[in-house]
Amino acid sequence: MGYKSKTCPKCNAVHNKRGEFCSRSCGNQKKHKPETKVLLAKKQTEWLTSGTDEAEVAVHNFTSLGANKVAEPIAPLRDNMGSGRFVQDGDLWEEV
Ligand SMILES: [Zn+2]
Repeated sequence: MGYKSKTCPKCNAVHNKRGEFCSRSCGNQKKHKPETKVLLAKKQTEWLTSGTDEAEVAVHNFTSLGANKVAEPIAPLRDNMGSGRFVQDGDLWEEV
């Protein structure tokens, strides 16, 4: 039973499971060649700059969360503001 016998490229174990790797953990450790990485980056960039709604959301999420994992600040409720917290351009809140 099973698929034809083959050798796992990661750990060299002989197995007859589906796909080239013997286990999920081996499959997840595949190393891409540098030229493959360049190709993936090129395609990713093409998609991110394609202007579709999905791409715009992905760009926004990366910009606000991707690099430093700090979410954009959320304005506090007006009740917590106290008095005299208005700024000149009309925003109702400031960093605390
Ligand atoms: Zn393996």
